[in-house]
Amino acid sequence: MKSSTFKPCPQSYIDNEAAATVKKPERKEGFYNSVLLFMLAFAMFVMGFVLLLIPVIGWILGPILIIGAMLLAFFCWVPGAFGFLKPANQRRLAGTKHHYRNMMQGNCPICDSLINIMPTKDTGTLNCPSCKQLLQFHGTTVTPK
Ligand SMILES: [Zn+2]
Repeated sequence: MKSSTFKPCPQSYIDNEAAATVKKPERKEGFYNSVLLFMLAFAMFVMGFVLLLIPVIGWILGPILIIGAMLLAFFCWVPGAFGFLKPANQRRLAGTKHHYRNMMQGNCPICDSLINIMPTKDTGTLNCPSCKQLLQFHGTTVTPK
């Protein structure tokens, strides 16, 4: 029976994978916040022009709103302002790294594609994400089941 030997992933690989996993929902959040703020900026912009039609008080408040809207619209696109480049949540990152600590990498003995496994025990089974075949791992040895 064909088997393949898996190697523990280097720590840098695990760090990258963990960071990417933790970052994904934060990026999405940041994107939604930016979209919401952009819509708010647009509403302020329109309001500002409507206010310009009102003499005196509108001539003061209108430009303030328009300038505020432009600033807001500008900052929507500044990465980092709304979580795009915000440092990853350190506790979540540490937890994910811990979860990934035993990650091993090797080739599926059936379809030969590169796969990662995250054993929590010495022995177990997994499905190859590419060919969906059931595999058995024992230590660093992976065989079809
Ligand atoms: Zn496979």
